[in-house]
Amino acid sequence: MTSTPAARNWKQRADALKLETRALIGDTFSPSSSGNVFATLNPSTGQKLADVVHCQAEDVDRAVAFARKTFESGVWSRMDPKNRKQVLLNFASLIEKNKEDLALLETLDMGKPIGDSLNIDLPNVVETVSWCAEAIDKIYDQIAPTGHDVLGMITKEPMGIVAAVVPWNYPLLMAAWKFGPALAAGNCFILKPAEQSSLSSLLLAKIALEAGLPPGVFQVVPGMGETTGRAIGMHMDIDAVAFTGSGQVGRYFLEYSAKSNLKSVSLECGGKSPNIIFADCYDLDVAAETAAVGIFYNQGEVCSAGSRLLVERSIRDELVEKLQKTCDAYVPADPLLEETRMGAIVDTDQLDKIMSYIGRGKSEGADLVAGGTRAREETGGNFVTPTVFSNVSNSMAIAQEEIFGPVLSVIAFDSQEEAVRLANDTLYGLSSAVWTADLTRAHDMARAIRAGTVCVNCYNEGNITTPFGGFGESGFGGHDRALQSIEKYQETKATWIRLHRPG
Ligand code: NAD
Repeated sequence: MTSTPAARNWKQRADALKLETRALIGDTFSPSSSGNVFATLNPSTGQKLADVVHCQAEDVDRAVAFARKTFESGVWSRMDPKNRKQVLLNFASLIEKNKEDLALLETLDMGKPIGDSLNIDLPNVVETVSWCAEAIDKIYDQIAPTGHDVLGMITKEPMGIVAAVVPWNYPLLMAAWKFGPALAAGNCFILKPAEQSSLSSLLLAKIALEAGLPPGVFQVVPGMGETTGRAIGMHMDIDAVAFTGSGQVGRYFLEYSAKSNLKSVSLECGGKSPNIIFADCYDLDVAAETAAVGIFYNQGEVCSAGSRLLVERSIRDELVEKLQKTCDAYVPADPLLEETRMGAIVDTDQLDKIMSYIGRGKSEGADLVAGGTRAREETGGNFVTPTVFSNVSNSMAIAQEEIFGPVLSVIAFDSQEEAVRLANDTLYGLSSAVWTADLTRAHDMARAIRAGTVCVNCYNEGNITTPFGGFGESGFGGHDRALQSIEKYQETKATWIRLHRPG
């Protein structure tokens, strides 16, 4: 039940939570056949939260066998669309009903502020599932423009078994961007959450059963990438893998597909997105505050973070001063306090990676103008101060490589052409933004930037109605969100019917 703000004491609620740590296979929560588990830690304290089931290849086999049987039975894949819609709407409303516990699990497991989990992640999950549900009975197939002696039908069908392997930065939302459309299309779905953040997915699994999803339609198999993720990638009876994560692991999934059954693979990978501010920007204060959200929100652990701030040289120093001031709003603090805006980094590996990039920025000659240090070390948690480097050259590692932390690289430019060249001088192409009062320039820049999203006079906006995906090494194989995401989990069939008329 949703409680009032006054009734919330997140720490007490955390202590009282009963954690589900077993896999959902069919309609049963069960341990791994091997008995293996792995520890999941609270990144804001370093303390163990729970031992979670570590699914092995045999467990993945069991989940796939269940999914196949369920898919073939037609109980979901051939369910009347209006009934399938209703079950998914029930699912969305039960997620809404349980949003506080789900949000709390997100925060405990991956360190993001509770206010963000509750007010941003969970509402987006609910919206994703209900939007996909609503689409189910509004999508029509097509009739081909053939001659009168033929009926040519172009129909869409579910693919079969779709598995998703997702990262830890938005554990439920990245999963929802896959299961919402995949289930809407009539597939059976198997989720492997990231090992850092499995707990919310396991509560979600309970909610799915309660919502009336037939057993075998939605299953969750937690585990480590090299074991459970690999078993999914190599499986001979999974039809599609939807992956969000690093480019390195994305490449593994292409290999797994090539070495197994040529399953369809879609990849949503990293980014090094340019946020471009021209001197004619209509409000530099808004631009600075938005740039800070663009890199410090979610501790910078955002694939579409605006990690490269390209600024017209004449306003660079003024903007950097404003940015330094905005850092005060992102002092790392306890993620269970509702006022916290900067929580903990997900684990010590990620923390070490961020600190090593901060070291590289300094040694490559960039100016460290804010942050650059660890914080709250006495808590045992992984905290980093919001960090800004100025005088960065686009060839430096901090401008080329994805840090996935609260580290901003400010790069000056002198002309529109140079801004375009720098923006596109990256292996990635996920997101971007342009700040200008000149409509023609905004339009020209939007055309010239090679990225899946271009925002004008804002950053990282868009919603379930707009597709999300990338160019270049940011991924391929179909975008998340919008109607395109449902098509991504469908096969296209042509049926050619010759009509015989007597005489
Ligand atoms: P990751 O690639 O390390 O892990 C992602 C998932 O892959 C996890 O579930 C993990 O267990 C699994 N995995 C790891 N090794 C594997 C292997 N050998 N075989 C099979 N599966 C394996 O990524 P991460 O550290 O969890 O997340 C950060 C990355 O995700 C960043 O690069 C970020 O940009 C990207 N990301 C992209 C988007 C997007 O929509 N484009 C969104 C969020 C995160």
